[in-house]
Amino acid sequence: MLTTGPRGTQDILPSVSGQWQYVEKTIRNVCDLFGYKEIRTPIFEHTELFLRGIGETTDVVSKEMYTFKDRGERSITLRPENTAATVRAYLEHKLYADITLNKLFYIGPMFRYDRPQAGRYRQFHQFGVEAIGTANPAIDAEIIILATQFLKSLGLNELKLQLNSVGCPKCRPVYREKLQDFLRDKVKDLCPDCQSRFERNPMRILDCKNEKCTTLSQGAPEMADCLCEDCHDHFDQLKELLRAVDIEFILNPRLVRGLDYYTKTAFEIQYSPLGAQSAVCGGGRYDGLIEECGGSSTPGIGFAIGIERVMLALEKQGLMPNEDASLDALVVPLGLKAQAAAFKVLYNLRLAGYRADMDFAGRSLKAQMKQANKLGAKYAIIIGEDEVRENSVMLKNMFTSEQTKIQAAEVVKNLNFEVKD
Ligand code: AMP
Repeated sequence: MLTTGPRGTQDILPSVSGQWQYVEKTIRNVCDLFGYKEIRTPIFEHTELFLRGIGETTDVVSKEMYTFKDRGERSITLRPENTAATVRAYLEHKLYADITLNKLFYIGPMFRYDRPQAGRYRQFHQFGVEAIGTANPAIDAEIIILATQFLKSLGLNELKLQLNSVGCPKCRPVYREKLQDFLRDKVKDLCPDCQSRFERNPMRILDCKNEKCTTLSQGAPEMADCLCEDCHDHFDQLKELLRAVDIEFILNPRLVRGLDYYTKTAFEIQYSPLGAQSAVCGGGRYDGLIEECGGSSTPGIGFAIGIERVMLALEKQGLMPNEDASLDALVVPLGLKAQAAAFKVLYNLRLAGYRADMDFAGRSLKAQMKQANKLGAKYAIIIGEDEVRENSVMLKNMFTSEQTKIQAAEVVKNLNFEVKD
């Protein structure tokens, strides 16, 4: 127990943390280009927020939440996603007071009690954006472009963008009824989950992964044929904007979100080489959510990308960049008497911005030089008893093997390469 982490969690070890930093840096670059500002919310919230903000009938809320009572007997939940919390923060801090359109992004861990498998964890990480304050389809297009630009800038090209419109509270009830009429005599053969969805949330039957449900719902009426004029126009404009910038999409009438506060645009991006867990990004418009959470009626849209899935895809395609972890200099003290002088040289090198290190284990010259090679050090700075006496160092260029004795105070001046930024 003490040497094993909880099921479904992962340690990000030093050997791969650089890869995570690379992906996070790419996220920050893209968000900066598009004018999205970072928001960081707590990893736990009042349970009520998720019941309202995600919906009690969803799998995430009904089966997958990490919920517990804190010592004050309050019901607390580890966030399973971050849209509801972002909306809570938006309302709590009145972000709407100064800016009509808030463009926000977040990166962080999410928690879902699900059966762990490759690409599916109990603690995983998401990068997401939320654009709160406009119903303009141009912002739907913008966030879809942001998601694809992020994935493409990592080198992932085999992306499939699936698109649908789920209508609005005006047109959806008509569709819902049509769908229920179509499914009514098939209900008894649906999976138990879908049987309970039939009354509460029938649109979710369309994206059930159970083969029987998929077959039974073949030929079901499509939302696209029931959209009201407003939703229809909105969807048309979005498609036109995406075509204008050559973003390919596939219309998928089975891409649904059954709750009332999800409106209009729904989309998913898949990276097919990932197989079963190919969904890397899921997003959509939620024009009713802010009101549901206690604010005034405000349109919004967002997406979330699973970072572990992106990492798996990068690994699979060999797209992980090589890290440059090489040292500028390894300081090599010979014996304990040289340690203080070596420590001072090390201190000055780091102060000047050089990536430097030294041996702390009292190893032999041979062992330390081997280490310098292993670390890819450009210089070894050797300090023995003679050097301590003379206040000097032996500067060895590891590429040319050339050695020069210089004054300890001159070391920084003698490293003839630029400091990395
Ligand atoms: P969702 O919030 O369910 O729409 O998921 C958005 C994205 O998060 C998905 O497309 C996945 O890439 C990722 N994701 C969701 N659940 C998990 C999980 N349990 N483990 C790893 N990634 C996940």
